[in-house]
Amino acid sequence: MAKQKKYIFVTGGVLSSIGKGITAASLGMLLEQRGIKVTMVKMDPYLNLDPGTMSPFQHGEVFVLDDGTETDLDLGHYQRFTQHAKFNKKNSFTAGRVYEAVLKRERAGGYLGKTVQVIPHVTDQIKDNIKAAVEDADLAIIEVGGTVGDIEGLPFFEAIRQMKHQEGAENVLFAHLTLLPYIATAGELKTKPTQHSVKELREIGIQPDVLICRTDRVIEKDVKEKIGLFCNLPADCVFSARDAESIYDVPLFFAEEGLDDRIAEKLGIWTGRPDLSKWKAMVDVIHHPKKEVKIGIVGKYVDWKDSYKSISESLVHGGVANSARVVPVYIDSEELEKGNLSKLEDVNGILVPGGFGERGIEGKIKAIEYARTEKLPFFGICLGMQLAVIEFARNVAGLDHANSAEFKPGNDQNVIDLMDSQKEVKDLGGTMRLGAYNCLVTHKHNGKNTNAFGAYGKEKISERHRHRFEVSNKFRPRLEESGLVVSGKNVDAEKGVELVEMVELADHPWFLGCQFHPELMSRPLDPHPLFVQFIKASLDSGKKQTRLKGIS
Ligand code: GLN
Repeated sequence: MAKQKKYIFVTGGVLSSIGKGITAASLGMLLEQRGIKVTMVKMDPYLNLDPGTMSPFQHGEVFVLDDGTETDLDLGHYQRFTQHAKFNKKNSFTAGRVYEAVLKRERAGGYLGKTVQVIPHVTDQIKDNIKAAVEDADLAIIEVGGTVGDIEGLPFFEAIRQMKHQEGAENVLFAHLTLLPYIATAGELKTKPTQHSVKELREIGIQPDVLICRTDRVIEKDVKEKIGLFCNLPADCVFSARDAESIYDVPLFFAEEGLDDRIAEKLGIWTGRPDLSKWKAMVDVIHHPKKEVKIGIVGKYVDWKDSYKSISESLVHGGVANSARVVPVYIDSEELEKGNLSKLEDVNGILVPGGFGERGIEGKIKAIEYARTEKLPFFGICLGMQLAVIEFARNVAGLDHANSAEFKPGNDQNVIDLMDSQKEVKDLGGTMRLGAYNCLVTHKHNGKNTNAFGAYGKEKISERHRHRFEVSNKFRPRLEESGLVVSGKNVDAEKGVELVEMVELADHPWFLGCQFHPELMSRPLDPHPLFVQFIKASLDSGKKQTRLKGIS
């Protein structure tokens, strides 16, 4: 008989944005470090089929998996906190996907003439999706998007209620995250919102097994007892999720309070305590860096930091590898367009991230020109690389109206263009290059290691993509003759196509653009080599390097 799987459902109450994703990811990390084969799933109650079409302003960044699935940014947290868990299209699904499957089956006559209903058909589909995701693991941590009480979340809550009943109480655990606000005028932590949120859960048949309360302090025993009494659970099942300086502190705080011990005990999992030594060493560097480096991130979503979540985390990882704190300086590209470049003078390196659409483009190009001519380390990601190619084409290769077909369709100097095969496809939705592709790294250029090889130390790599446009092979010879170094390429021998994956400049301390998204592969314990080298170069850039006070 197949081994019984264990399920942990993480739900949230009171408010959104109190850290459900990080809580789930932290549980994943702690249980995986106990040697358990863990997987993680995000269920989102909205109707979009996936977040691929949503604006970053609406939903934060879109996290892309190897198989090309466009997912929610929480999958990014899951991946960063775990080491071995594998994620694919089964690890994230929305109400839209669930309904799509149900409706397809209905059209195919799969319900044998029955009336198709939310219960049992939609809830069954949700349970099937959960079980399919956990196939290759022993334990799944499943986060339910939204907050208890949302109308659209109800089928998901009903499905997980049924799972406890059907899989056995000892195999399913409900962890509920609530907010415990400290009210200064009363001088105490207020438990009422938590009580109400648990009441709401219990009304739909779910009794939380552990309560995790977001607070700005550790919760004292008497408060835990009060919460336990009113929420119907032992006080030793109430835990604090206190505000943390770094998200990577969170699992350590949980472990200190024994959250993972209690969960293991409740699920009847017998393992040793987790080995947290490497994680602790990493967190220690975050809190006690030897150096500091300022990185300018030039983008148009600068007011909405979640749009660049993976990039800002990857910068932290690259910093840790260099014993440095990275201070991100968000620079609005539209401000640069107005001609005020002063913010660029204050940073040690410039990063231009990915993006879509024309707004803010010329400001980013100005920032790239500044990095190229001032010899400031530059890292261009996806759109950032495309703009670096445009800047080079205009200012070095003499193609003075170089542009991208994304912004100037029909322009005769589009150094960034659709591939010929894409041009025939009328539906733009079908033309994205999504997911993992192989890349061949150029080892040497003019007898010297390329920056790319210097980072990866090997020639064959795989990286994740999410874009539509490419460096035009028509202009490639002209660009290369003018000094642009192609240091990574994707070769599809069958189709006879070669695509530019990385570009750099030879006479520059560190200037690299990549068509893929390296930030989707970086983990704190396994930082991405391009981020490590970019931070190293920015630290080396010397002239503006600031040392932390008291550290020589
Ligand atoms: N807009 C560009 C493209 O579609 C870049 C995309 C990105 O940066 N993710 O190719």
